Amino acid sequence: MKTYHLDKKISALIFDMDLTLYSHEEYGRSQIDRLIEKLSERQGLSFAEMRDEIEAYRKDWAASHHDRQLSLSAVLAAWGVSMEENIRWREETYQPERYLHPDPRLRNALEGLSASYALAVVTNNVVSIARRTLAVLGVGHCFRGIVGLDTCGAAKPHREPFLEAARMLGAPPEACVSIGDRYDMDLRTALELGMGGILVDGVEDVYRLWEERGSAAFFIRAEGFNT
Ligand SMILES: [Mg+2]
Repeated sequence: MKTYHLDKKISALIFDMDLTLYSHEEYGRSQIDRLIEKLSERQGLSFAEMRDEIEAYRKDWAASHHDRQLSLSAVLAAWGVSMEENIRWREETYQPERYLHPDPRLRNALEGLSASYALAVVTNNVVSIARRTLAVLGVGHCFRGIVGLDTCGAAKPHREPFLEAARMLGAPPEACVSIGDRYDMDLRTALELGMGGILVDGVEDVYRLWEERGSAAFFIRAEGFNT
């Protein structure tokens, strides 16, 4: 876990979803593979050929952009896949219920945090998949809002999803903290907008935000937050 700019009053926490609110390597990889499969069918290539082309494209892009990561949505757009198609492909192929289970420890952490902060999810997934994912984890009731690909038609690291989440929660960006597993997607823009940031290695770190809330290492200051 790594924290950025938490030395201020915070009223809202904005969580990434995939590989932040659950750790499941196989499900994470399956989501990428389903989209590569769809694109390979459209391009008339084998899965392996498509995967290699995408990998080469991402590598080239990173080399000319200070090693930054490119979102999968941006990759699909580069191959001419519209946002509508991108959303439809995900809705047709993603199955969180096949991989994930209720997580009482996450529920406990988020219920605890939600007593002091307004919580939202900002995901590069679609809202319907986000709702299903949060439902299967048993934590849907902890969030006041979900911002997905289909909320503002833009994917992180675009600034709009972060600003939309702040608006939903009625908090200025400076009072928000963005929490996620990828610096380039979840934190870079949030920090530019004046938010704080917490880079997590997985859901274990989200448990720790609550279970080790007394620790000075990542104490988040909030109005009425008791440690
Ligand atoms: Mg993630």
